[in-house]
This record gives sequence, structure tokens and C-alpha cells, in this order.
Amino acid sequence: MSEALNSEWYSGSSGALPGPRELAWEAEHLEGSSPREILQWAVETYGGDGLALSASFGGPEGMALIDMISKISDEVTILTIDTGFLFEETIEFREEVMRRYKLPLEVLRPRLSVEEQVQRYGERMRTCSPDLCCQVRKIEPLERALEEYDAWMTGIRREQTPQRANTKVVAWKERYGAAKIAPLAFITEEWVHEYVAEHDVPVNPLLKRGYKSIGCEPQTRPVAPEEDARAGRWSGMEKTECGLHWVDGKAVRNESS
Ligand code: SF4
Repeated sequence: MSEALNSEWYSGSSGALPGPRELAWEAEHLEGSSPREILQWAVETYGGDGLALSASFGGPEGMALIDMISKISDEVTILTIDTGFLFEETIEFREEVMRRYKLPLEVLRPRLSVEEQVQRYGERMRTCSPDLCCQVRKIEPLERALEEYDAWMTGIRREQTPQRANTKVVAWKERYGAAKIAPLAFITEEWVHEYVAEHDVPVNPLLKRGYKSIGCEPQTRPVAPEEDARAGRWSGMEKTECGLHWVDGKAVRNESS
């Protein structure tokens, strides 16, 4: 977690780091750079210690970023959330991937086990209050982990959902006291697939079984070829994103996931 020095600079683990105004300038400067150039900038700015990469091991975007960052640094920590509801295939895939890439891995877990959650909130919390379930099992563990980092990277892309359409390449996130970097913000799905094929990057085996976006097993289904990639997430519900936070006691969604 960084501390404000003034409106433009923060004190982080590797010295003075860019604050909100500096990052707004960097976002414009980096727009249109290649993902590799953005990753290089992130490593040079935050060092290996202060930087993390958040990956679900579900989609190809996170896998492409893991492959790219492993060619730049062997110090960047991969953060991944284990909600207790993941597909067994995803857990096995994660282990296989981390045998190939020699990067530190931190598996984030909720404070409550699945059993404790059921006892406290009831069996149907996932379907009746999915926002609360995601808050307990995804958002809170990520918030807690990010207290140790100055910046983190995600594989989100603007074209994935309307909520992600305004994603900046880099932006200050006050709620985490850290910078959020999206090296694939303006990248197309085709580009990701080409990168994965060209570099022989492993992908979650469920992607070959009709799943296009993979999260928790109870709320992920395969999609038909003509369906949107994220149509299989929280199918039949209004919910499309797990990224939310609380403002004045109300759940407010944002683009992070
Ligand atoms: S995706 Fe579903 S099961 Fe997973 S944390 Fe969110 S509501 Fe809970």
C-alpha cells in the first residue's frame, strides 16, 4: 500500500511512485503501446516486488500476460483467487501452468470457508445475493492482498463488456491505494488468440469444451458459438461482473474483475 506524498507522487516500496495525476499522463502516453511495452514500463516503474499480476487461470488473456511477464521478470507475483467454488479443471490447470512458469504464486482465499459462509448466510447466498458472495469470496481477499503491492495488472479488455469500455491502460485506484494496469485494454480478442497460438501458451482445457469465460463452477456454463463470451457467467441473472465495492452501504459495480 502506498502513501501520498503530494497530489502527484506516492511513496511506495521502491521509492517515489507516480500518483493519480502522473498516471493520467502515463495512461495517455502508453495508449497504443504494445502490451509488452506496457509490461516493461510497469516493471521499470514498480520493480518486481511492488508489482503483481492478477489472473484467474480461466481466460486466455491472463495466460498471455503470464507468458509475457515471465519473459521480462521472474519476480512479479501472480495473484489468483480461489473462491472455493472453482472448477477442478481450473485448479489442476493452475498447478500445471505454475510448473512451467517460474514466477511466485499467491493463492488468495476468503476469510470464510464455504461451510462457514453457508452457516452464516445460508445455502442460497450464491443465487440470492451473488454480489455479496463475490464481495466475500473475491473482492475482499483481493483488497487484502493488494495492501502489499504498489500496482497490479489485469487482463481485462475494453471490448469485453460495457463496464470495461472505459478502462484506462493505467489508473490510480484510491480504494486499493495502488495503481491498476491493464496492458490489454485496447487489444482485440483475435490478437490474444494469435499470441497464445504463436507462443504456445497453455489455456484452460474448459475453453475447448464450449466455455468462453470461466469463473466459479456453479455460475458458469458453456455458451453457443453465436453467444457473447460472458453470456455463460451468472446466466439468467442481471449480474455481469464480480468487481464491485461498497459506497455508503450500497454495492456499486466497477470494471474490475
Ligand atoms: S461467482 Fe458465484 S460462487 Fe463465485 S464468488 Fe461470485 S457469486 Fe459466489
